Amino acid sequence: MTEPLFPALLNPPAREAVRFGSVALDYPGLAAAAGAVARRLRSVETTRGRRAHVAVWATPTAHTAVAVVGALVAGVPAVPINPRSGEREVAHIVEDSAPALVLAEPGVTLPRELARVPRVSVSLTGDGGELPPEPPAEHPALIIYTSGTTGAPKGVVLPRRAVASTIDALGEAWRWTAADVLVHGLPLFHVHGLVLGILGPVRLGGTVHHLGRFGTDALVERLSAGGTMMFGVPTMYHRIAEEIADRPDLARALSSARLLVSGSAALPVHDHERIGAATGQRVVERYGMTETLMNTSVRVDGPARPGTVGVPLAGVRVRLVDDAGAELTEDDGQTIGEIQVTGSNLFTEYLNRPDATRDAFDGEWFRTGDMGVRDPDGSLRIVGRRATDLIKSGGYKIGAGEIENALLDHPGVAEVAVTGEPDPDLGERVVAWVVPAAAPRPSEADLADHVATLLAPHKRPRVVRYLDALPRNDMGKVMKRALGG
Ligand code: ATP
Ligand code: MG
Repeated sequence: MTEPLFPALLNPPAREAVRFGSVALDYPGLAAAAGAVARRLRSVETTRGRRAHVAVWATPTAHTAVAVVGALVAGVPAVPINPRSGEREVAHIVEDSAPALVLAEPGVTLPRELARVPRVSVSLTGDGGELPPEPPAEHPALIIYTSGTTGAPKGVVLPRRAVASTIDALGEAWRWTAADVLVHGLPLFHVHGLVLGILGPVRLGGTVHHLGRFGTDALVERLSAGGTMMFGVPTMYHRIAEEIADRPDLARALSSARLLVSGSAALPVHDHERIGAATGQRVVERYGMTETLMNTSVRVDGPARPGTVGVPLAGVRVRLVDDAGAELTEDDGQTIGEIQVTGSNLFTEYLNRPDATRDAFDGEWFRTGDMGVRDPDGSLRIVGRRATDLIKSGGYKIGAGEIENALLDHPGVAEVAVTGEPDPDLGERVVAWVVPAAAPRPSEADLADHVATLLAPHKRPRVVRYLDALPRNDMGKVMKRALGG
C-alpha cells in the first residue's frame, strides 16, 4: 500500500482547507468535492497502457484546487493551463499534451483551442464516498509547463514521489504544519502557486487563503485575519518594499506573520533589507524549478542570509560543476559553476522530448542551467542562468545578478536587468536596462561609477538603456530574451 498523498482527506478534520475570497471548503468539503471529481475521472480511458491525463483550466479559484486535488486522488495526471495564456500558448500545450478532457469551473469560456477537448465542469460540492486506492509513487501526478523564460515551454512530468518529498522537505525546513494559514496571491498553473501553495497546505492538513489577485491591502487583511505565512515572488516583495515606509498597517501585518517566503526569481537584496528594516522580519528565499520542484532553502532555524537561497532540502543533493563537468569544491563564495541537482524531488522526463530529457542529465545529475557559487557555510548563491545571466567579458565570468543588486542600491533606479551583448574587444560587454525611479533619470556615467565603487571595475555597465518597464511574464520574471540578452 502506497503512502497517501493527502492523508488529511482520508480522515478529514473540521479545519478550513482552502479559501478563495468568500468561498471556502473545509477538509470534509474538499474531500467530498475532490472525491466527486476523482470518481468522474475514473471513467477516463487508458491510452497506451497508461492513464490519459487531463487539462485543468487553472483560474485562481477553489475550482482549480478541487480539480487538481481530485485528479491526483484519482491518479490521473493533471496539466494546469494558465487562463491568461494567449492562443498560441494554449495551442502549444493542447497539441503537445493531448489531454483526454479539460476540467474547468462552470460557466467560464474556454478558448477555441480547448473547446474541442471534452469538458467536465468542476463542482464545489460532492456526496462523500470512498476515495480510490493510491497509485504507485512513481506514477505521474502533474505535467507542468516551464515558464518559457529561455525557450518554448516544455511539459515536465512530475511523479507523485517528487510532489510528496518536496512538500515534506519544506515542512521540515520551514516548520510548516497543519496549524499554518498560508496567504497566497500567485497564479495556480506553476510549481510555486500550485504545488507549494495549494498541494502544500492540503498535504500538510493546513489552510490556504488565496487573495485572487495579489494586492497589499488584501494581504494586510488576510494576515490580520490569522494568516501565518506568505508565499510571494520578488515583484510582490518589491511592491511591499516600495510601500512599507508609509504603511504602518502593512509593516504591522507582515511583522505578525511567522514566515515570509520568496522564490521563482532572485529577491533583490535592497528589497529584502527595506522589508527587514520596517518589520524586523526576514524573507526566506528558496530555489526551485519546474523540473526539480524545490532544491534549497534558507532554514527558519538558521541564520538570515540575504542574497542566498540557503542549503539543500532533505532528500536533495546539489553540486557545482565547471565547464568540463568536473565538480567544484571551493566553497569560497567566488568560484562560479553550473548548479546540478539530484534527489527524490526530480521529474521523470520532458513530455514528448526524449532528446531534451537526455541532454538535461549527466548521469543522475540534472543540469539546471543556473550558475551559482557556494559560501563557506554551505549556502548557495544564484549567479543567474547560464544562457542569459552569465556574461563573459574581458576574460572574466560576470554574473548579472550581482550587478543588478548594485544598481538597485542607486536611488535613481527603480528596476533593472543586466545582460551581455557582443563586443569586439571584450567578447561581451555589460549592458544595463534601467527603469528610472523618477525624472531626471540618472546618467550613464553616474550609474557606471556607482557600480564601480561597489564592485570590481570590470563589472560596471558599458552601456545603459532606459525603459519604462521591464518585459515580465506572469510570474514577474524578467524575459531577458525580449531584451536581446
Ligand atoms: P524555461 O525553463 O521555460 O526557460 P523557467 O526556467 O523560468 O523557464 P521555471 O521552471 O518556472 O521556468 O523557473 C525555474 C528557474 O527560476 C530556475 O532555473 C531559476 O533560474 C529561477 N529561480 C527560481 N527560484 C529562484 C531564486 N530564489 N533565485 C534566483 N532564481 C530563481
Ligand atoms: Mg528552466
